Order: sequence, then structure tokens, then C-alpha cells
Amino acid sequence: MARYRDSSCKLCRRENLKLYLKGDRCYGDKCAFERRAYAPGQHGQRRGGKISDYKVQLREKQKVKRIYGVLEKQFKGYYTLADRRKGVTGTNLLLILESRLDNIVYRMGFAASRSQARQLVRHNHFTVNDKKVNIPSYLVKPGDEIKVKEESKKAPQIIGAMETVVRRGIPDWIEVDKEKFKGTLKSLPNREDLTMPIQEQLIIELYSK
Ligand code: SF4
Repeated sequence: MARYRDSSCKLCRRENLKLYLKGDRCYGDKCAFERRAYAPGQHGQRRGGKISDYKVQLREKQKVKRIYGVLEKQFKGYYTLADRRKGVTGTNLLLILESRLDNIVYRMGFAASRSQARQLVRHNHFTVNDKKVNIPSYLVKPGDEIKVKEESKKAPQIIGAMETVVRRGIPDWIEVDKEKFKGTLKSLPNREDLTMPIQEQLIIELYSK
């Protein structure tokens, strides 16, 4: 399966924003963005000239794809799905991304980053409503219960993530029972619950051309 192979930290520097792609490291002084807050590469420190609307929209799309670890084809598919749903397309798009199983596992604190969550899901560490699900893009619905499998409760990555989740916190729209290694998606978040600086309307403008 295709995936990004470049350094995650370069992506943050490219987007000029901390995307929190590396788990606990993102919260410490080893964060590359804290040390070098300019774009990577030979011309990274050049002052930019006038930026076209297209470039602004494109960068916003790239940023959101990188936050959620989704590649272009799948992301475009999410846009199509969001556009078909009732309501505001941009908000729908973000809610679809938030519903992905890898994101929910990360939000619940069973993984330190979305990429780690993706790997853990693929390696069969979780069930959804007591059924085995190993597809990171599986869309979780309100009321669904995610459990760490019995034999996975000692997995060091899961234990480590649960110990450090306090740094970022668990959102109100998710309920987690740490003792029982399980969590429930209580409801989808409201737009204002999503605090990353995302201007989703720019993405909609880009795809609507
Ligand atoms: Fe981004 Fe995390 Fe790397 Fe910092 S440590 S640059 S937040 S991926």
C-alpha cells in the first residue's frame, strides 16, 4: 500500500504548523518544528512572494491529508462522500476523517499517533462492537464500542500510549474506560470541538473548480 516515506517532521515544517505526527516526541523539546520553524530544503528560509489562491487552497488540502495520513485518491473520495451528505460539505469532510477507526483509536489514547494507530489496527489489536476490524479507514459510528483485544492488552505501544495520553487529553465526545481497555464514540464532534487550525472551505473551493 502506498504511504508517505519522507520524514514526518519535514511535513510539519512544510506546512508551517505542528501536525503532531510523532506521538510523544511532538510535545517535547526534540520536536523539529520547535527547533527549525521554516520549510525544509535549500530554499526553506526564503521569504515567500505573493501566493496564489490556488496555492493556498492546495496547501490546506495537503495539510489536512497529512494530519489524518490519507492519500489523494482516498481523500478525494471523502470529499465526494461529504458533498453527497446533508449539511456543510467542509464540516462533513472533517467528520468523516474524524470517524476513521485509526483516528478514533488515536483519540481514545490507545496509540501515540495516527500512524501508530493505523499500524496497530492493521495488526488486529482491536475490535469494533466485538467484531474483528483491521481496516484503518473503517468509519466508526456513534455508539460503536472499540476494545483492545485481550491478547493485546500487554502490547508495549498500547500501554505506552495510554500512559502519555494525558498530555493531549481525550475529547468529550469520546468515552474511555482505561481499566477495561475500551472506549465508545459517544457522538460525532461539533466543528468547534476540532481545534487544529483548518480552513476546510479552502479545500472545498479547490475541489469545486
Ligand atoms: Fe511535527 Fe511532531 Fe516532528 Fe514536531 S516532532 S515536527 S510536531 S511530527
